[in-house]
Amino acid sequence: MIRLHVTNDLSANAAVAPTLDQSRYLTNVMRLGLGDDLLVFNGRDGEWRASLAEVHKRGVILKCEERTREQTTGPDLELIVALVKKARVETIVEKAAELGAARVRLAITRRTNVEKVRLDRLDAIAEEAAEQTGRLDVPPVDDPVKLEAILDGWDADPISGRRLMFCDETGGAPAIGALGLSGAGKWAILIGPEGGFSPEEGERLRALPFTTAVSLGPRILRADTAAIAAMTLWQAAVGDWER
Ligand code: SAH
Repeated sequence: MIRLHVTNDLSANAAVAPTLDQSRYLTNVMRLGLGDDLLVFNGRDGEWRASLAEVHKRGVILKCEERTREQTTGPDLELIVALVKKARVETIVEKAAELGAARVRLAITRRTNVEKVRLDRLDAIAEEAAEQTGRLDVPPVDDPVKLEAILDGWDADPISGRRLMFCDETGGAPAIGALGLSGAGKWAILIGPEGGFSPEEGERLRALPFTTAVSLGPRILRADTAAIAAMTLWQAAVGDWER
């Protein structure tokens, strides 16, 4: 069944207006006809079965029929990734949405050498991945921000604050054991750029009270591979497997 992320409120009999691109996808690509069913979600009202009610030149109208799933929230996991080349950032955003990250933050580090980023394209990738994965929300992708600024603004409360899984290619504890000791709650994963973190960045990160420095193994991974491995290990150690 087709799943579509929409922005309208969803309730019984509500009319839903997908974007023109989505409308074209439904009618021209998926060849949906009047009365055909699909699933819609908006990140707030759960998932609904909807049917194609009207087809116009400027877009289709869907009608909400019944709620198929209640809204749930996934784990509070942020992926903070240094801005890397376009193709790798796109892979990272797609995989972050698939692997259950709640938010993707792009960081500018000492050795970041990429400047341009197309957030609209990354948002579209996150949306499509969320649709196909079956999750009920779409992770937002934030504008690139300096790593120092992210760390300066950190919620470091020892009880309610966010923990940081710092993926340290220069060495650290094996991820599963180290994460298991730190427990559940709010987390972020940090992945560096192709050139790695500078020695000063590594020092600052390791000294922060909310940081768990982890190794992903004795091989140096590309940023996209590291992000996928780190999210998988995090999910295995403290994630939402019981759901
Ligand atoms: N150029 C660097 C490697 C950077 S890899 C070097 O040669 O040392 C990009 C990022 O992926 C790293 O900053 C780190 O966050 C993560 N990463 C890659 N391999 C890793 C590993 N084995 N353990 C932990 N993190 C790793």
